[in-house]
Amino acid sequence: MSGTVSTDDLVSWIRAFRDAVQEHKDELTRLDSEIGDADHGSNMARGLDAVVAKLDPAPATPAELFKTVGMTLVSSVGGASGPLYGTLFLRMGPALGTEGGVDADTLGAALRAGVEGVVARGKAELGDKTMIDALSPALDAWDAASVDGLAAAARAAAEAAARGRDATEPLVARKGRASYLGERSAGHLDPGASSATLLLEALRDTLEAAA
Ligand code: ADP
Ligand code: MG
Repeated sequence: MSGTVSTDDLVSWIRAFRDAVQEHKDELTRLDSEIGDADHGSNMARGLDAVVAKLDPAPATPAELFKTVGMTLVSSVGGASGPLYGTLFLRMGPALGTEGGVDADTLGAALRAGVEGVVARGKAELGDKTMIDALSPALDAWDAASVDGLAAAARAAAEAAARGRDATEPLVARKGRASYLGERSAGHLDPGASSATLLLEALRDTLEAAA
């Protein structure tokens, strides 16, 4: 990898995310059984299986890839997470455009556009005990490490996401189904922050393998 990722690398990232969600499906569902309705693992696994089924033949451009990923998630995942993850990818596509060879700053900007879309749609703020608690610190870590290249940025982002996920445990949920539990939502990790960490870890692993 020469400081940039190809469309094929981005396809590998999405496949790696699917594999990670499949591997952690029961754990994600267990987390959702504690503060939700026990479907986050199965929701995400079903949606990402539908996504991967559409990646052969592989899309030719990042814009095409993320449009396919986003639209498939929106249409195949019930629950809050489908439209939210769908929005993340749908907003990333235009930020990456039709050229291969995406560098660290460009991928960071695309991730930021995606997460801003999730915030616009779900209205969650940092500390509301949602996927934003993993995604938002990951973006800041990405930007801080971007000067050192893609692999370093992705490593920093994955670490920050994991810390953000862990920090959801004591929080009281203020958005989504878990907020119905009020104070009883404290003492559990947020399932969406956990799947969002898998997304950033899959990116880190893909970029390290491509390096
Ligand atoms: P549902 O809650 O509809 O069953 P899932 O179980 O698939 O959907 O996803 C739950 C996850 O979605 C939560 O753990 C949380 O991280 C995320 N989530 C819910 N509402 C919001 C929101 N408004 N903004 C951001 N993320 C949210
Ligand atoms: Mg659920």
